[in-house]
Amino acid sequence: MKRQGIVFVISAPSGAGKSTICEGLRQTPDFVFSVSCTTRAPRPGEVDGKDYWFIAPDEFTRRVTAGEFLEHAEVHGSRYGTLRAKVLELVARGTDVLLDIDVEGARQIRASAGGELKKSLVDVFIKPPSTAELERRLRKRGTENEEQIQMRLANAIREMAGWGDYQYVIVSGSMEEDLARFRAIMSAERCRAWRWS
Ligand code: 5GP
Repeated sequence: MKRQGIVFVISAPSGAGKSTICEGLRQTPDFVFSVSCTTRAPRPGEVDGKDYWFIAPDEFTRRVTAGEFLEHAEVHGSRYGTLRAKVLELVARGTDVLLDIDVEGARQIRASAGGELKKSLVDVFIKPPSTAELERRLRKRGTENEEQIQMRLANAIREMAGWGDYQYVIVSGSMEEDLARFRAIMSAERCRAWRWS
């Protein structure tokens, strides 16, 4: 039997533990992680082509004009975009793809998803248990300065308002709990009869 590919979308305000979930998921790579393009600078340890494609702002604009992005958005003052051709090719081949994108990107994909992609889309929002907990996690990470933390917190509060548009919500607990829940969603969605032929 053959199954159609699924586009799993994971969104969360930064500091909600999403990167940790993605890293955990990538330990069992039964999907392809969609490597986004971004204009932000790499953080220590980040690898070009693995975490992101780090590109210059004018190159990003060129790709937007050329229609190379499935969706793109400005997040925390930098631009981010998902490469269209790669995602569509994988789904057509029956391979599952994971997209780590913000609320605006997910909205664009939902809005534009016609035919195949509409049925392929499974979106999941990771919601921190409280704003105080989110702030605590963001500070603990220690990768942003105070100004960046304040910007990310303000964005987080705005982004959290969008969770109701998602098919699934995971109220974040421990990393293990979040990972297990995400894996459960993946398993169930893969078993939907209509995905098979
Ligand atoms: P970070 O800079 O912390 O890696 O990511 C910041 C935010 O950008 C995260 O919420 C992440 O989900 C989002 N993001 C990463 N790649 C993309 C993308 O291709 N498109 C959109 N819309 N958001 C993205």
